[in-house]
Amino acid sequence: ILSVENLTKTFKSGNRELTVLDNVSFDIEEGSTATIVGPSGSGKTTLLGLCAGLDVATSGTVSLNGIKLNALDEDDRAFTRNQYIGFVFQNFQLLPTLTALENVTVPLELRGEKGYREKAIDLLTRVGLGDRTDHYPSQLSGGEQQRVAIARAFITDPKILFADEPTGNLDEETAAQVEALLFDLNKQQGTTLVMVTHNLELASKTERILKIKGGKLVDDQKSVVA
Ligand code: ATP
Repeated sequence: ILSVENLTKTFKSGNRELTVLDNVSFDIEEGSTATIVGPSGSGKTTLLGLCAGLDVATSGTVSLNGIKLNALDEDDRAFTRNQYIGFVFQNFQLLPTLTALENVTVPLELRGEKGYREKAIDLLTRVGLGDRTDHYPSQLSGGEQQRVAIARAFITDPKILFADEPTGNLDEETAAQVEALLFDLNKQQGTTLVMVTHNLELASKTERILKIKGGKLVDDQKSVVA
């Protein structure tokens, strides 16, 4: 479903060029689970953003379902993201002036679809927040906000979900709930799951572990997960 070929990303700062990703290539199979691990600053978040079409590479290609994301203009990339991709940000990125329910419906409103309210309530109920639909982000705990962010990412029935440190800022129990939720959605809906994490226990539960170091892919482990 995802094919990354010779991906390189450089950032310019002043007259210096910083190569953050250096010739990275891999494929991710539809319906599978994968984690991207590696030291802080190694380029994981940058890689996830490029895979999800949030940014474009300096060279190389990212293809999603055969669509070359870097060949698209910004509008077409946004459309493709809305059609195929869910993204859960490290810091949730909920809109503070909208309720949990309104946050979850945003991606479908962008599509102009109807009936999204019921779907959003159903998803919020599935993530255990059926009684929090009218709360604002500031009235929710970190774990609850993360679950709203996951419900929002799933409202479009994405083929692939990217999550940056989905359990990063959560206590152990909440992290376990969020983790279970992501794997359930993968199993039930066949959503391909690609996560960045420092949590090696979470990584060990995925079928694929991609290790990034200094912008290079240094290890690509495949394992059979029960
Ligand atoms: P962490 O585990 O700490 O989140 P990471 O592996 O996700 O780190 P990235 O966030 O991808 O790392 O950053 C990789 C490098 O790219 C860092 O050195 C960072 O400073 C640099 N970088 C990221 N975004 C930009 C940007 N927009 N402009 C310049 N440099 C950037």
